[in-house]
Amino acid sequence: MALATTSSSSISSHAFGSYLHPPRRRCARRNVPVSPRSEAEVQREEVVIVGAGVAGLATAVSLRRLGVGATVLEQGASLRSGGTSLTLFKNGWRVLDAIGVADDLRANHHRIQGMKMRSASASAAGAATDVLREFSFEEEAPGQEVRAVERRALLEALASRLPPGAISFSSKLRRIARQGPDGATELEFEDGRRIISKVVVGCDGVNSPIARWMGFSEPRYVGHMAFRGLARYDAGAGAGGQPFEPKVNYIYGRGLRAGFVPVSPTRVYWFICFNRPNPGPKITDPAALKREAMDLVRGWPEDLLAVMRDTPEDAVVRTPLVDRWLWPGLAPPASRGGVVLAGDAWHPMTPNLGQGACCALEDAVVLARRLAAAAGEYGEAMRAYERERWGRVFPLTARAGLVGALVQWGNPAVCAARDGVVIPKLVRLGPFLEHTNFDCGLLEPPPAAAP
Ligand SMILES: Cc1cc2nc3c(=O)[nH]c(=O)nc-3n(C[C@H](O)[C@H](O)[C@H](O)COP(=O)(O)OP(=O)(O)OC[C@H]3O[C@@H](n4cnc5c(N)ncnc54)[C@H](O)[C@@H]3O)c2cc1C
Repeated sequence: MALATTSSSSISSHAFGSYLHPPRRRCARRNVPVSPRSEAEVQREEVVIVGAGVAGLATAVSLRRLGVGATVLEQGASLRSGGTSLTLFKNGWRVLDAIGVADDLRANHHRIQGMKMRSASASAAGAATDVLREFSFEEEAPGQEVRAVERRALLEALASRLPPGAISFSSKLRRIARQGPDGATELEFEDGRRIISKVVVGCDGVNSPIARWMGFSEPRYVGHMAFRGLARYDAGAGAGGQPFEPKVNYIYGRGLRAGFVPVSPTRVYWFICFNRPNPGPKITDPAALKREAMDLVRGWPEDLLAVMRDTPEDAVVRTPLVDRWLWPGLAPPASRGGVVLAGDAWHPMTPNLGQGACCALEDAVVLARRLAAAAGEYGEAMRAYERERWGRVFPLTARAGLVGALVQWGNPAVCAARDGVVIPKLVRLGPFLEHTNFDCGLLEPPPAAAP
């Protein structure tokens, strides 16, 4: 598919003015050695974003709010329509407010009021109640905003804020071909296209080829996997189809935990995390996948099982959980020349705090602000972005990993202590959610550059 060029032409003179009319031939010949192919085949862009996921789209929308155009290059033929849901906390909602898409999403997604922490063993033993502790966000973490949002709806809401043609689909990055001394980077795509861009934002997710090119190690498998699913209650949609109150249900077993949360009037999201020494072969048969998930929690509370039964087979996914810790002095820098990483491409984290997408959103706003103010000094803007974000994302990645390791413990004594003492008496929701207080601030367009 041909690359749309509308976003290039929409680039304002605010931040990238000096590159609006680059000395194309000279620039290409002097700074980026050109291959034998004709120069006419090389497309030039000011800012490209690789990946139309949460980070890529949010970065494009944030830049646009600041008057800066960008072309988004996505390997898929369309926005990801599958996927389940993402639980977004107030730091995520602040970003969505700052970039102007929050209210549309709020209108279609329930605000979650609280959380029930339950015990699988109490349920199996037929105890009168399996609830270990019940929290109200209003009482224990006032001001918290929690909603589970369909990934599809989030991506569509973000994409709707971009001009037509700003996303070039079926554009799979094959490799970074070279980088000139001025930081301009030549990208090569699977269909043979080549693009030279002053700024390349790598938002290509957990298996990022751009991160690999920058010297990052492969993400580390943490020893547990997740099933996720999205149950459908369309039949009764008119009357509020799904039967659950807007609370997160979290059910703990031994080395196994599961949960479900209402997303919207017609959708309920559920998950299971289970230990496994290695991810094993990929299962492609949807029926087998759902069967494996149901087998894991046989005998668990009936409401969880009902949600899983109400899930179409093609709405169940299984994912190995991975992360990568950005150890100071060991991890490569987040930018190299004019290339910078955001979201999972930079800091894949386990979902134990529900912060991967929230942090990808935060990255987007911070990076866009830095780039828009760069006045041509993109290298320094990218380094400033890294300095601003590293202290946020490294501890969160580590904490998410540690929390996961702790709650996946299958040791009977540890699990008994968790169910008998830690959850009922020690857990405090406010301090636990302290990290969601991050405020990305407003994203005010400069007066002359409003989109
Ligand atoms: C089980 C699980 C549960 C989770 N739950 C939550 C949660 O509740 N809350 C939360 O905040 N986070 C959650 N996360 C994390 C969240 O999914 C990620 O952090 C988030 O999707 C990161 O967004 P991203 O844009 O960086 O990457 P992605 O969303 O993965 O997007 C990457 C994009 O890049 C594209 N791409 C990849 N390679 C190329 C290429 N070579 N060329 C062109 N395009 C390419 C992909 O097609 C994709 O569109 C969860 C993660 C998992 C695994």
